[in-house]
Amino acid sequence: MQDVGLYIHIPFCKMKCYYCDFPSFSGKEENMIPYAQALSKEIQNICKDKNIRSIFIGGGTPTYLSLQGWIILKEAIDKLEKQHIEFTIEGNPKTFTEEKLKLFREMGVNRISVGLQAWQEAHLKSLGRIHSLQEFKNTYDLLRAYGFTNINVDIMFGLPNQTLAQWRETLHQVISLKPEHISAYSLIIEEGTHFYNLYEKDQLILPNEEEERQMYEDAVNILKENGYNQYEISNFAKEGMECKHNLIYWSLENYVGCGSAAHSYLEGVRYRNEENIEKYICKVNNENNAIIQKHLNSKEENMEEFMFLGLRKTKGVSTLEFEKKFGEDIHKVYGKVIEKYIKLELLKEDSERIYLTPKGVELSNVVMSDFLL
Ligand code: SF4
Repeated sequence: MQDVGLYIHIPFCKMKCYYCDFPSFSGKEENMIPYAQALSKEIQNICKDKNIRSIFIGGGTPTYLSLQGWIILKEAIDKLEKQHIEFTIEGNPKTFTEEKLKLFREMGVNRISVGLQAWQEAHLKSLGRIHSLQEFKNTYDLLRAYGFTNINVDIMFGLPNQTLAQWRETLHQVISLKPEHISAYSLIIEEGTHFYNLYEKDQLILPNEEEERQMYEDAVNILKENGYNQYEISNFAKEGMECKHNLIYWSLENYVGCGSAAHSYLEGVRYRNEENIEKYICKVNNENNAIIQKHLNSKEENMEEFMFLGLRKTKGVSTLEFEKKFGEDIHKVYGKVIEKYIKLELLKEDSERIYLTPKGVELSNVVMSDFLL
């Protein structure tokens, strides 16, 4: 049986946040049950000959799926071949209910990822979040009361009108709750979002580059001082609490994605599912899968992906692993680039691994793009 990570996509949100370009939709609640039924079918079909190493249910807002939808999904997930795995569900405060949490425990969910983004009410409002700070705090307490001992909190910097002091407050307040994992992403203004329209009209006041750099540096330092190891550009965890599922992506290992817009990577082939919810349901019901694109990676593409995904991790890429995967010495393929960035002190190499220096992490986009063959 093939070992894989399993990603499951729930595309429903109560309201679209102003910055979000994820494949998620509001106002599609009538599709929840047919979607859960089609998704269950797809999961059973795709995973029947797989050994599941981890499960991550993301979205959208998985916790917004109705209880009835979850009951349908549980049946399919219960049948999977899996033992003592990391099992994460993502959610938005205000959409967690006690019934759903009870069900999650019965399903074997042992990790919850909650989106907070900012500690200040004004920012929550201006981001279009549906919850207040108090609702986040209540959710967090409820998760602990239900015995979840592995919680991630998502926060964001580089927000419109956000000051350094506010970002530091967000960091310190979240740390005081002692979650096992914190993800800290910078806001990106994506085309097609409400923020993009405001940005185009010059109506968004964003921190400048220097302020944003300082915010990232603060996150790295403050989280480190408080016992969170940075193990990826935007991810920080207490000892041993790194997200195993995400490490599968960053290590170019096999994973399958089920649900609308989900992606898979299996033995060098990338697959992409239909994004439109109604078309997804139809396609799964008629064909048992919703794949609309399949691409066999060339050896070069696999090498590139191995490098730029691997370099996201603070421990970087293993030179031995590269040779085992591709049958070539990493220096033969990337010698010049590696040498260039070691000289610029953006990369470092020891006897086993090549990784970004702290300065390299700040300029990671530039370094990584040079690994395209
Ligand atoms: S809750 Fe998450 S997925 Fe939904 S709109 Fe907001 S950021 Fe996007």
